[in-house]
Amino acid sequence: MRQLKNINHTFDTPLGDVGCTIRKGSKWYDESIGNEVELRNCPKGHDGDCNSLCHHAGTGKIIGHWKGPLINLPPTLLAMEHNVQARDPEKLREMLERGYGKICNEDIVTALIYIRTEVKSN
Ligand SMILES: [Zn+2]
Repeated sequence: MRQLKNINHTFDTPLGDVGCTIRKGSKWYDESIGNEVELRNCPKGHDGDCNSLCHHAGTGKIIGHWKGPLINLPPTLLAMEHNVQARDPEKLREMLERGYGKICNEDIVTALIYIRTEVKSN
């Protein structure tokens, strides 16, 4: 199962609900519908797989995706951001920049939409 990593933020989508994560680039656009991904809080921003020190927050099943320039991100997708704090456009930009460095309106982002299939607590 592929690891979907987040740097220092929470996975707020409740079990059975639909959430979405926004990523720079189009790497996640290739993830197949129906695949399950492992949700990890990765404070160290690991390049490869996380180790046991990175919290395993459960799983999500991919149900859809969207790709386009950041400026065109549909508000309905932003409203589903799995980290509640990132549902604000400026906050989202801040968080993306924390993970990826400077990001412009024209940069391509991918929204990965999933159903939360498992929630693990700390
Ligand atoms: Zn990690």
